[in-house]
Amino acid sequence: MTTPFKHRCAFCDEPAKLTKEHLWPKWTRKHLRYSGQRHQQAFIVWGDEGTTERRRTYGGDARNSGPKAPCGACNGGWMGGVEIAAQPFLTPLIKGNSIILGEAGQKAVATWVTMKTMVAEYFDPKQIAVPLEERQYLRDHLRPPDNWRIWIGNYEREKWAGQWAHGAAGVHSIRTPTRNLDRPNTQSTTFVVGHLYANVFSSEVRHLVDCISLGEIGKTKIAQIWPIQEQIVAWPKTPLDDTDADICATALHDGLRAMFATPTGD
Ligand SMILES: [Zn+2]
Repeated sequence: MTTPFKHRCAFCDEPAKLTKEHLWPKWTRKHLRYSGQRHQQAFIVWGDEGTTERRRTYGGDARNSGPKAPCGACNGGWMGGVEIAAQPFLTPLIKGNSIILGEAGQKAVATWVTMKTMVAEYFDPKQIAVPLEERQYLRDHLRPPDNWRIWIGNYEREKWAGQWAHGAAGVHSIRTPTRNLDRPNTQSTTFVVGHLYANVFSSEVRHLVDCISLGEIGKTKIAQIWPIQEQIVAWPKTPLDDTDADICATALHDGLRAMFATPTGD
């Protein structure tokens, strides 16, 4: 008798034995500093009771962490292809070396960041904000959905411990920014790999995606790579320090919090 699989693949939705997808893939390890005996992840939830933030500190090296989300066929198939396509562009970004990212490079990096963001949501399945259709869109089109925005910065880490932060909220519409949804549909993620500092925002409320901003640092030290705005992005940009990194990691969360706090007037 065969045992039916209890889980479904995050991307193809087929019942399957799920596989671990390393958030920090093995090929990046030679470029990454050993993160020591612990690493930190932050989970932020906006809801009726206000904002709650949990910072979880994990034992062991961040480089080994990754949730089980894809099936073996996805992981070894198209996901491996995304990894291979992005690698030539990612390597200089991760090392902080110079590179000119054209449109193909921006798209390859943005697609890779989107894939990792979608997988990383499975660290906390109750707070998954990205719908199945968007994960399937990534698989079918090998590009981020249009309601995603992705920015990258060149980070010089000192003491800040953040490796990954995820915020999730249920947003009804831009005028009534929260409540009435039984599941999150809006997320922001910050993800650090070596010098590469990626900020991601996506929402089923499209207008929110267009409105969100990274503030002053976003104008000078951060490049938007999705949707593609510039034909070329020259790297490295002016480095982000620990303070910039912390401000940017919370800028999207703070922006949402401010919207929730504003009376809508109707
Ligand atoms: Zn699959």
